[in-house]
Amino acid sequence: MQINQSNLYDCAIIGGGLAGLCLSIQLVKNGHSVVLFEKNNYPFHKVCGEYISMESYDFIQSLGLNLNKMNLPKINQLSVTAHKGYKISSTLAMGGFGISRYTLDSELAAIAKHNGVLVLENCSVSNVKLQQEIYTVETSKGTINCKIVVGSYGKIEPPFIERTKHNKKGIYIGIKYHIKTKFPSNLIELHNFKEGYCGISKVDNDTVCLCYLTTSKNLNKNNNDIKQLEKNVLMKNPYLKKYFTESEFVFDKPLAISKIGFEKKQTFKNNVLLIGDSAGAIAPLCGNGMSIAMRSSKIISNYISLYLQKKITKNQLIKYYTKDWNTNFSLRIKIGYYLQKLFGKQATTLVSLKVLSAFPSLFQKLIALTHGNKF
Ligand SMILES: Cc1cc2nc3c(=O)[nH]c(=O)nc-3n(C[C@H](O)[C@H](O)[C@H](O)COP(=O)(O)OP(=O)(O)OC[C@H]3O[C@@H](n4cnc5c(N)ncnc54)[C@H](O)[C@@H]3O)c2cc1C
Repeated sequence: MQINQSNLYDCAIIGGGLAGLCLSIQLVKNGHSVVLFEKNNYPFHKVCGEYISMESYDFIQSLGLNLNKMNLPKINQLSVTAHKGYKISSTLAMGGFGISRYTLDSELAAIAKHNGVLVLENCSVSNVKLQQEIYTVETSKGTINCKIVVGSYGKIEPPFIERTKHNKKGIYIGIKYHIKTKFPSNLIELHNFKEGYCGISKVDNDTVCLCYLTTSKNLNKNNNDIKQLEKNVLMKNPYLKKYFTESEFVFDKPLAISKIGFEKKQTFKNNVLLIGDSAGAIAPLCGNGMSIAMRSSKIISNYISLYLQKKITKNQLIKYYTKDWNTNFSLRIKIGYYLQKLFGKQATTLVSLKVLSAFPSLFQKLIALTHGNKF
């Protein structure tokens, strides 16, 4: 599909991950004209643990994706291990389900297109300008004008957005594989290793997702060689050693993302409203960034509709959305951040797991704090 440069779109969305795609579908269903830019071509793989908290299940279905028909793994058990294999387990009250981003994002993109969103793939946004209340969005496929712009570009800020300052100690990398191995459909495992942790759970297509997060420093110390890092560090955990040595790996090489930080971000920057990871990255340990991305799209879509109908001003839109973001997510993001600080360190992980093992209700409470209610 081509850009129509003379059109004035109601809304332009930068980034077609879960936040952007879900927002585009809601806005178009509310009668607004929407263009969405995605720098990759669907379907494509993404670094993500692919465990989605159950809170999002009904919302995804309401957008038109029939998850019920996809026979997806439903996850209600959690096991966590410390560096040398000490293990604790618990049931998950809310729980989640597994689906690969390859499948989920491309299915949502198809629904967006079907409903009339102009989805421009292989199209990277390079700049956003605002003049007399009209935005001009410059992309690799041309320029468009619109009334409001939403950034859903994820964790890495594009050049036209002022960079969030990262604490050097807090720069992470994420690595993901799809593997074939015997693994229960209802289980998610979280294995700690020095300066990181690795999540394992089943997704669609009888595949298992193995995804880990560690500090950039950890990779540097291993000659920037992922295989060396896995051999020297991850495989010290006996559970991880088993997966790495006894599974069939589906990808030729690991999927990687670097320069990830978890510092506090903003909901509005450089005249662009921000949702999902663009507004605040949640530590993957909580397994809930995807639900936050989708929930933030639902919150903002109502306010954008009111703005486009001239029922609220842009300042009100920014103010109401920011307030709702803080109410809904600030605590969850903070908990994720502190849990991440706790895990990964050999001594604190072991002590924490022993305490949680002695107080199972505390463990349950902690898990509940990282999951939200259905929306
Ligand atoms: C290691 C790791 C494991 C995780 N595990 C889980 C988990 O198990 N469960 C969970 O709920 N969350 C998990 N998360 C978090 C989750 O992946 C994110 O919170 C979620 O993907 C955020 O969605 P989003 O739509 O905001 O961003 P994204 O899904 O990152 O989408 C952003 C999109 O924008 C596009 N883009 C970027 N810049 C531009 C540009 N300039 N022009 C056009 N397009 C652009 C990108 O190509 C991308 O498709 C994990 C994260 C990491 C790092």
